[in-house]
Amino acid sequence: MDHISVSQINLYLDCSLKYKFYYIDRIPKPFKPSGILFGKAIHSALEWLNKQRQIGNHVSLEKLFKIFETDWFAYKAEEKVLFKEGETEEKLILKGKELLSLYFHQQNEPVLMAELPFQIPLISQTGEVLEVPLYGVIDLIEKGDVITEFKTSQKTMDLFQVSNSLQLTAYSYAYEFLFQKRPKGLKIVNLVKSKNPKLEVIYTTREKKDYQRLFLLAKKVLEAIKARIFFPKPSFKCKECEYQEYCEKWGG
Ligand code: SF4
Repeated sequence: MDHISVSQINLYLDCSLKYKFYYIDRIPKPFKPSGILFGKAIHSALEWLNKQRQIGNHVSLEKLFKIFETDWFAYKAEEKVLFKEGETEEKLILKGKELLSLYFHQQNEPVLMAELPFQIPLISQTGEVLEVPLYGVIDLIEKGDVITEFKTSQKTMDLFQVSNSLQLTAYSYAYEFLFQKRPKGLKIVNLVKSKNPKLEVIYTTREKKDYQRLFLLAKKVLEAIKARIFFPKPSFKCKECEYQEYCEKWGG
């Protein structure tokens, strides 16, 4: 392993066996749940929009919709999509456009940076350095040193989820490491694809103790991976798991 990311940590914590199938055995996924592709297409559209705003280009909502649809169809051409019961492509695209329209029209601060990649050492409070660097990409930094993470979900995220978002902890840590100052604010822009799509903005903060927790989690996950500790963790997420067939044959 030459780096660790929050996605890897989260996947290991969600189900270590799925982590093994994906990152170690590198088994191609036979399909992708619609929610994953939807999130990717929304994310790419927002990335495009914010990069345009960063360089001072004023773009139209229609162009944003086009980018979203193009990304959706491009992802769909590469992957077999698993739709939820009662869900259709048309309904999803419509919801995507409604969510993008809500974001497009909301009051936004000027963009300082969109999609900022980082690969930095993860250091504990006692000065211990994790054996591999932490990798990630900060979704958005706005004027006033406010960091944003975009999140699409079926239901509104609650404060507990936001307070415990490892991704935001990593963004905050990376920002402090790169710019030698604390971000003034951290927020999740939650794009909720409920029956009536809505956009929620939830603010939070992080402290040194949160960075320490991130360090310890990353360290323990790395130790467990090295020790080859992988086992199934059945949950509601199994319904959409791409590796069910392999999981059933798991022999310990
Ligand atoms: S089906 Fe469930 S338990 Fe099995 S690998 Fe997938 S997520 Fe893990």
